[in-house]
Amino acid sequence: MAYKYIDNYREKGARKKLVEELKKKGIDDENVLQAIGNVKRHYFFDETFWNQAYKDIAFPIGEGQTISQPYTVAYQSQLLHINKGDKVLEIGTGSGYQTCVLLELGAKVYTIERQEKLYNHTRQVLPHIGYNANFFVGDGSIGIAKHAPYDKIIVTAGAPTVPDVLLKQLNIGGILVIPVGDEKSQKMVTVLKVAEHDYEKIVLDTFRFVPLVGDKAW
Ligand code: SAM
Repeated sequence: MAYKYIDNYREKGARKKLVEELKKKGIDDENVLQAIGNVKRHYFFDETFWNQAYKDIAFPIGEGQTISQPYTVAYQSQLLHINKGDKVLEIGTGSGYQTCVLLELGAKVYTIERQEKLYNHTRQVLPHIGYNANFFVGDGSIGIAKHAPYDKIIVTAGAPTVPDVLLKQLNIGGILVIPVGDEKSQKMVTVLKVAEHDYEKIVLDTFRFVPLVGDKAW
């Protein structure tokens, strides 16, 4: 793989167009749009595929996984309502693209990936391109109790149900965003923790994620 970290006028222009496309598709949170406009998505692609980097599509990143579609990243980020300094748990680091968007929004990010190869790659690349998160390897379906509670939790793989253990790791006023369904399609679900044992759940649009694999998942 030949990764290169140069931002040419062509990529800058493509990024602006992507932001316009996401606006047309309904993303209206200015901070999220700005974050998408700042993260150099082509840095997550082999140079041969740079022409794919600013298309609104998911793309293979190895180990049978994908870098999420920009619309999906923007959609989930928007639902999190990130405030600067929020402590965010991300389950499913993958390429780290979503991680960078969260960092651009001012979050302090704890991110966990179950695939060791992806974990090792991403934890090296992100600091190299200027993004610092706390990286963990293991089963994120049970959260990371040691660093809880979190202000926000985002799950970037499709789960069969909302794991209770993740709700327990949220602060009061915290939000969990998780795709829930079967292996073919999931509904985006947000859960607001109103009080201890009191939750408000909203079921939104349909997406297709790779499966969340683990103790509290498939
Ligand atoms: N948002 C990421 C990005 O932009 O590159 C893409 C994430 S990819 C769609 C989902 C990731 O979740 C995969 O890398 C997969 O290995 C990981 N995953 C699946 N089950 C997991 C689990 N139980 N704990 C941690 N990571 C998991």
